[in-house]
Amino acid sequence: HELRTPLTVLGGYIETLRHIEKIRPEELRKHLTVMHEQSARMQRLVDDLLTLSKLETSPPRTQDETVDVPALLAGLKEQAEILSGESRHVITLEAEPGLKLLGSREELTSAFLNLINNAIRYTPAGGTVRLTWHTRNGGAEFIVADSGEGIAPEHIPHLTERFYRVDTGRSRASGGTGLGLSIVKHVLLRHDAHLDIESELGRGSNFICIFPPSRTQNARNPRSAGTG
Ligand code: ADP
Repeated sequence: HELRTPLTVLGGYIETLRHIEKIRPEELRKHLTVMHEQSARMQRLVDDLLTLSKLETSPPRTQDETVDVPALLAGLKEQAEILSGESRHVITLEAEPGLKLLGSREELTSAFLNLINNAIRYTPAGGTVRLTWHTRNGGAEFIVADSGEGIAPEHIPHLTERFYRVDTGRSRASGGTGLGLSIVKHVLLRHDAHLDIESELGRGSNFICIFPPSRTQNARNPRSAGTG
């Protein structure tokens, strides 16, 4: 259904254009804009579905990398500023130097970026998005805190289900696929970690990724993969 709708819209437009003899350039441009939006939406969906199926079907990694999370987050903060663009969110990053993770850089990037992307999309222009990475109970946690619209408590337990959205129209209008948090959940599972969501309607949300000591590495606690 999620893929069929944009495909049907696109097919409809192509069919219409095929039978038109004469069309004004501005009308053609209008049609092409809708077609472009629909194909971009399908592209995002297919990308997210492929990411998700790879996460679900690939065997546990045997080789973990040591991921320099503060460096990774510095790059993601720059991407966040680009995503925010004209909306000019106030984006801050506080990362504990030298605090690293054992895992997959690619997967962690995808999970963290999904959370950051959501914080920006569900926070009105000019709002704040705070990124924090620090030690917690011998492990580590990554927090994305936004001053956005927040989420009513009854929705929170369902947010990581595929295609679950509080407001479908709003999600789609901002380029959402409804798969972001499912991807986050699977990446965290593959890192022995879990997601905590705290939110208050109208005040904002905290999405917290909690990693166990066996996955974390810092100057005082240098572990190597597999010995944790
Ligand atoms: P989507 O592509 O729809 O954003 P996600 O799986 O990333 O899909 O998120 C699922 C739903 O959770 C969203 O549709 C939205 O309703 C809600 N949500 C996610 N992040 C936030 C946030 N930071 N603030 C408010 N609501 C959020």
